[in-house]
Amino acid sequence: MVEDEPALREMLRLSLEGQGFAVRTCADATQAWRSLGEELPDLLLLDWMLPDVSGLDLLRRLRREEPTRELPVILLTARGEEEARVRGFAAGADDYVPKPFSPRELAARIRAVLRRAAPHVAGGRLAYAGLVLDPAAGRVTAHGREVTLGPTEFRLLHFLMGHPERAFTRSQIVNRVWGSAAEVEERTVDVYMRRLRKALGPTGHDRLVQTVRGVGYRFDPAGEGA
Ligand code: CA
Repeated sequence: MVEDEPALREMLRLSLEGQGFAVRTCADATQAWRSLGEELPDLLLLDWMLPDVSGLDLLRRLRREEPTRELPVILLTARGEEEARVRGFAAGADDYVPKPFSPRELAARIRAVLRRAAPHVAGGRLAYAGLVLDPAAGRVTAHGREVTLGPTEFRLLHFLMGHPERAFTRSQIVNRVWGSAAEVEERTVDVYMRRLRKALGPTGHDRLVQTVRGVGYRFDPAGEGA
């Protein structure tokens, strides 16, 4: 959440945490830009009127840059008029919530955007090329046959399938799969990737988990040669 008004920021943070969201807050666009470079959230709540760069300009910049191009963004704003809404959507907002709004409404909008844009977060089933991951059942099948995965490999695959065609660095993967507080060495990621590929190997789905030279890993649903 990027919101410069401390009281509103704190109120929203507490309310969203109370509804089960993990919230990271920033007070301006500069802080937000730095924070996004460290770790990508599942969704960004972005205030339009910020003290340095406007939320709208930050949004346009996010849409131009590779890692944040697809990041779900909800614009928060006191500007309710149609003209402002149109500009918000044109800049790439997934939703637009005029102030004042109730925290419950905001939470509902967040869930709706996540269901559309990031089904892995909303708990939906993911399926590519005969590989199916069901988060609710904690189960993975490949062409209908159960794939046995350890809990870490399962979370790793869940994360990758939830963000197809995007390359992630090992440190981004550590943050998202193990958590930002985890003390996990980057080569541990390679160890679990090897295990994951081995488990997916018999049906050829290991080819969907690709190494991106100089970057890290990517899930490619088309999986060259798969
Ligand atoms: Ca503001």
